[in-house]
Amino acid sequence: MRVLVSGGAGYIGSHTVLSLIEAGHDVLVVDDFSNSKPTVMARVESLTGAHVPVHAFDLTDVDKTERLFATEQIDAVIHFAGLKAVGESVAKPLEYYANNLGSTFALVNAMRHHDVRRLVFSSSATVYGDNAPVPYHEDYQPLSASSPYGRTKVMQEQVLSDVAAADGLKVALLRYFNPVGAHRSGTMGEDPQGIPNNLMPFIAQVAVGRREKLAIFGDDYPTADGTCERDYIHVEDLAAGHVAALEHLDAMTEPVRAFNLGGGTGTSVLELFRAFERAVGHELPYEIAGRRAGDLPAYWADTARAAEELGWRATRTIDDMCADTWRWQSANPQGYPEG
Ligand code: NAD
Ligand code: UDP
Repeated sequence: MRVLVSGGAGYIGSHTVLSLIEAGHDVLVVDDFSNSKPTVMARVESLTGAHVPVHAFDLTDVDKTERLFATEQIDAVIHFAGLKAVGESVAKPLEYYANNLGSTFALVNAMRHHDVRRLVFSSSATVYGDNAPVPYHEDYQPLSASSPYGRTKVMQEQVLSDVAAADGLKVALLRYFNPVGAHRSGTMGEDPQGIPNNLMPFIAQVAVGRREKLAIFGDDYPTADGTCERDYIHVEDLAAGHVAALEHLDAMTEPVRAFNLGGGTGTSVLELFRAFERAVGHELPYEIAGRRAGDLPAYWADTARAAEELGWRATRTIDDMCADTWRWQSANPQGYPEG
């Protein structure tokens, strides 16, 4: 298929572009580089030997989005583009609603006008809200979220479900758990701008000397070691999940289907930190700090549906995730070069 990847220069998008090319698909990217650097595309091209056309514009620009679909042959869309920082979304809700919903409206409208009927969407485990039983199952209702970011995901899932039912689209809603890791080559990885919000990139920056120490947000949760447990998933496994979902769309009997993409087990903050120390080969500095507002004690994915229907499951271990993150971070201490 010829696949348009929105947000294809970002962390998960770039790894998925690579996997799509390796699976024999033809890829084009749209990204406004608001949270990524153009130099990532050169890394993708050197790993694959393929040329990836990049359209650099903001998807909320309806005219440009329409023109893209009018001038390019597109068989399917994987939609990653969006803003994703939970804390920032509380401070700037309108920016989050405008960007995340606006990009989806423009994209899906253009798809409709140009008869493109296959869509894979980046959703998140955040849509399960605060009360879903663990492990999280795709059929759980009602979806909810505790931040404007999370609510954009709930809303986009709803919009896409309604449009799929009305207009004959096939939509896979992929609910990611905690994506971490980097490409095994060490040439591609997560490159957060500013101070990392998430655990793994923060530990990686401590290890490389960019941050003094990790603050562990709470050690008095009702878990085995008192720190929160999450379901970490290697970004290469996640990328493979997108290829599997894309290739499954035509066989779907319903217009829209949600799939959890996770590993199916919980790992605590301390366990992840210790695994990273093993990858680096020495101890790293940390302190126990207060709880972070809004954090749930523990959750992970029910992975049965993705295994049965997509034939996909995560294969990489926590040690693989840490080793690959460290290979990337130590070889690229400042992330991707500007340019
Ligand atoms: P990212 O910020 O690295 O990638 C998103 C890309 O989209 C960036 O390259 C950015 O420049 C681009 N972009 C943003 N708004 C755009 C717009 N209006 N027009 C064109 N391009 C635009 O993020 P990521 O971690 O790769 O996440 C990708 C998707 O997965 C996002 O939708 C995110 O919400 C979702 N997600 C991420 C996580 C995670 O932990 N990383 C978890 C669950 C869901
Ligand atoms: N965390 C932490 N210190 C940090 C960042 C995160 O202790 O600097 C904890 C956080 O409280 C949560 C876990 O690590 O329990 C994963 O957080 P992250 O932000 O990566 O993902 P989230 O849980 O928000 O999906």
